[in-house]
Amino acid sequence: MISRETIATTLADLGEPAYRSRQVYQALTRGFATDFAEMTTLPVALRRALAERLRPLSLEEVETRAAPRGAARKTLFRTADGEPVEAVLMTYATRATVCVSTQVGCAVRCTFCASGRLGLRRDLTAEEIVDQVLHFARELRPADRRVTNVVFMGMGEPFHNYDETLRACRMLNDEDGFGLAARAISVSTVGVVPGMDRFSEEPEQFNLAVSLHAATDALRDTLVPLNRTYPIDELFAASARYVRRTHRKLMFEYVVLRGVNDTDEQVQMLAARVRPPHYHLNLIAYNQTGGDFRRPRTADLNDLRARLESVGVSCTVRSSPGGEIEAACGQLALEHGAASAD
Ligand code: SF4
Repeated sequence: MISRETIATTLADLGEPAYRSRQVYQALTRGFATDFAEMTTLPVALRRALAERLRPLSLEEVETRAAPRGAARKTLFRTADGEPVEAVLMTYATRATVCVSTQVGCAVRCTFCASGRLGLRRDLTAEEIVDQVLHFARELRPADRRVTNVVFMGMGEPFHNYDETLRACRMLNDEDGFGLAARAISVSTVGVVPGMDRFSEEPEQFNLAVSLHAATDALRDTLVPLNRTYPIDELFAASARYVRRTHRKLMFEYVVLRGVNDTDEQVQMLAARVRPPHYHLNLIAYNQTGGDFRRPRTADLNDLRARLESVGVSCTVRSSPGGEIEAACGQLALEHGAASAD
């Protein structure tokens, strides 16, 4: 992807009229062109001049794995400087959701997460984030389908790369380009409180989700090390400020680790914290990454949901069609030998 600003500057330098800029931008964001040669509305000499100066794709596809029933596809890309980036497409009856990465690796180092094992390699640019979405938009097109939702829930902590994350949200949301509704875009943070406060002041109606994973500091400190910086009281104070400012609901994501965070103590604490109508809990089965944690069985998830609902928590179990293809963030990149920082 090339930003609108870069396209405009390059065309201005080439002495081209302003309308060319929109043509090129829309060829990339609506026509999903991967090469200037495809832009047949442009004169041949201009296509050549652009190809000498700009690269439409910031990522190269390395490998794609599809789940047996075809509901999820995970792609490993490589950046121009050789870093691994992963994204997942999950298709449902009426939706097609892309889960994007915002960083290569992650500094947060959640103990159950493969990306944490990579350590932080570098932030991704907005162009590299948007290219993950355009890749799947291109794949969906022959079936006459389109990307309906984007979640920033792959490798990385989006608010540790706030500016590029927001720029990517805006590029995806641009009515003149890709045109995805703000409400179809969700950013998921593990609880970076300053980022949550900043995000609540943005004018667009992008969704926010918080990866909670535990409801007591004692447990959360061990699962999400960032909890020592922003403990649960602060996290929920920021959540309340977000709801007050935006009048929007807040989704809490909860990766269920069998026998660890599905105990009665956690259920009681969740009941005290995650109160409807503004808060909703989304239970996600942990994808085994070869560590010490165990994936819950379907019966365990249903039992946990029933216990939570019995104490008044609004909650759902998210189907995770990516289980068979190592869809948990960072897993494919780890397999491809990205240096583990452990
Ligand atoms: S779960 Fe998210 S925040 Fe935690 S280490 Fe993995 S990518 Fe980072």
